Amino acid sequence: MTEFELIARYFSRPCPDDAVLLAGGDDCAVLRVPTGEALLVSTDVLVSDRHFPANTAPFDVGYKALAVNLSDLAAMGAKPLGVTLGLALPDIQPEWLNEFARGFYSLAAAHRVCLVGGDTVKSPVLSLSVTVLGSALPTQILKRSGAVVGDLIAVTGTVGDAGFGLRAVLSPKTIPTALARHEITYLHDRLNRPTPRLAEGQKLAQFAHAALDVSDGLLQDLTHILTASGVGAEISLIDVPLSPAAQTWITAEPRAALLPLSAGDDYELLFTVRAEDWPRIDFKATVIGRISAEPGLRVRDAQGHIVPMPAQGFDHFAAQTPPR
Ligand SMILES: [Mg+2]
Repeated sequence: MTEFELIARYFSRPCPDDAVLLAGGDDCAVLRVPTGEALLVSTDVLVSDRHFPANTAPFDVGYKALAVNLSDLAAMGAKPLGVTLGLALPDIQPEWLNEFARGFYSLAAAHRVCLVGGDTVKSPVLSLSVTVLGSALPTQILKRSGAVVGDLIAVTGTVGDAGFGLRAVLSPKTIPTALARHEITYLHDRLNRPTPRLAEGQKLAQFAHAALDVSDGLLQDLTHILTASGVGAEISLIDVPLSPAAQTWITAEPRAALLPLSAGDDYELLFTVRAEDWPRIDFKATVIGRISAEPGLRVRDAQGHIVPMPAQGFDHFAAQTPPR
């Protein structure tokens, strides 16, 4: 199969989006940025066995590659305009490509985002690069640097699920027997098919002060906001929202209680808002703390004591890091 045949066979579905004026067949795709809006661009590169276990289902690889990029648009309050895909493959396996494309397009269709271009190459290691293009009003772009002393700190959905899901994949023997089959499936799904919070991000862009998506771990990502904004924070461990599956895991293994603070890959939105704006939030989100003038980040337990911090998050260049 030639490159052209591969693209024609797996990656040439029609574009539903009228933002796309031209896609495929020409040297560039042509997109229309809505009048008065700014263009937002983000790229992620994912390498097999480094960013996802090599045995990850190809449907999930395709789904997640797009999800994590759409999540970056969500974090800044943008709407997607289009996406490009670079695919480096050791060989052409029709079944793998078919499933990969199915996963990618299932999420693309759900958000009406169009694959407008890309490239495929042969490579010893499977890797993929996704670039998303989005737009937003320049006055309504959510940044990390806008947190203000007194702001509430909140997060959408639940955190820690992807971290427990990764543990379940890498060391199935450590899964507590208290977890029901459907809870394990839920954790796997949260790891492999995260939900980009696009609608929530667009709503937050109207009034939130700062935001990002939780990719590296709650504490590490919150630290990014604090550093960029020049403020500190205090959060309450018992207020961190957990799914029933994560709760079951922690009840069975109490020393895993801090995992939701440091595990990445949840792709929930972490944001700060003025307390008076909280009633404007019409989706699931939980207040976990407050921005303070005192620098640094303090976590308190149920008794109000400061919790000593574990090693934070995931560093791509640190030794002994797990794949994610
Ligand atoms: Mg991000």
